[in-house]
Amino acid sequence: MWLSEVMLQQTRVETVKPYFHRWLDRFPTLQTLAEAPLDDVLKAWEGLGYYSRARNFHRAVREVAERHDGRIPDDPVAFRGLPGVGRYTAGAVMSIAFGREEALVDGNVRRVFARWTDDPAPADPALWSLAAALAPGARPGDVNQAVMELGATLCVPRAPLCGECPVREHCRAFRRGSQAERPAPKKARPTPHEDTAVALVEHEGRTLLVRRPVDARLGGMWAFPAAVRRRGESVAAAAERAVREGLALEVRAGAAIGTVKHTFTHVRASYHAVRCTLLSGDPRPLHYDAWAWATPADLSSYALPVAQRRIAALAAEPRCSAERTAEPAVPPSTFESLLRY
Ligand code: SF4
Repeated sequence: MWLSEVMLQQTRVETVKPYFHRWLDRFPTLQTLAEAPLDDVLKAWEGLGYYSRARNFHRAVREVAERHDGRIPDDPVAFRGLPGVGRYTAGAVMSIAFGREEALVDGNVRRVFARWTDDPAPADPALWSLAAALAPGARPGDVNQAVMELGATLCVPRAPLCGECPVREHCRAFRRGSQAERPAPKKARPTPHEDTAVALVEHEGRTLLVRRPVDARLGGMWAFPAAVRRRGESVAAAAERAVREGLALEVRAGAAIGTVKHTFTHVRASYHAVRCTLLSGDPRPLHYDAWAWATPADLSSYALPVAQRRIAALAAEPRCSAERTAEPAVPPSTFESLLRY
């Protein structure tokens, strides 16, 4: 149940289902997961995104194995102290799995409460105290799930089905006819853009991979060396710099492979991939945790984020004269870190 709550954060049920079943086949007990290396855990999570969830869940399970005798603590304070366990997850697991009178608030609950109270922008403290008022009783987990389900099925963002709602007589927004405006939409912030050069260093039939530091974005995942372009920097220069600064290797950038676009929660990224030839040096992981030379067949055994898989697929396409030589426009941003991408 804890696993499903973690997987379902920011992710649709239909997407999660196959991952959930595969995960349980691969890690049938808490102990097998606790003993698994992070590489295996991230490989099982590959494609589900938001990889910090997998890293934190793995750390939390290890802590349960080592400090709680392998039993998930049913004490809200102890459970909340585990890595990655936020207020919502704690409320869900404690109330649903252990029958503890703990509150929870997620996006669906927020919308339902905003309509019950006819509040266009309910603050977190008000939402949590309303949820806390509902939790006491014999079946707090059922109550919490009922409110979430109401938000998911009837009290939907657009055109709520108030005629079928079992609590409409308690709903202030329904009485006033304001339910379509509750909660008021949040102002969308512009999403920053990162323009990244990706180096596919090819040598004797293998391609160079790096493992990203655990505390970086996509931490623990494997990737091709890359750097966010500096203002005025060409893709070739940024790719060569990525390999030099990240691995102490000198390479020469050659033909462009293509561009892959990917949107993260807070940033849109354009990855410009370019083939590179090894000139000199032995790899040293200066900005990375590890490196490896991978054959095309090896690639499937590494945990690669979706965008990196797409780059690998582009690179595997037959080369032709159309192998892109055009240089993308100079990036508007000045992001410089190797690990911002
Ligand atoms: S009456 Fe309508 S707006 Fe109010 S809780 Fe029910 S579905 Fe939502």
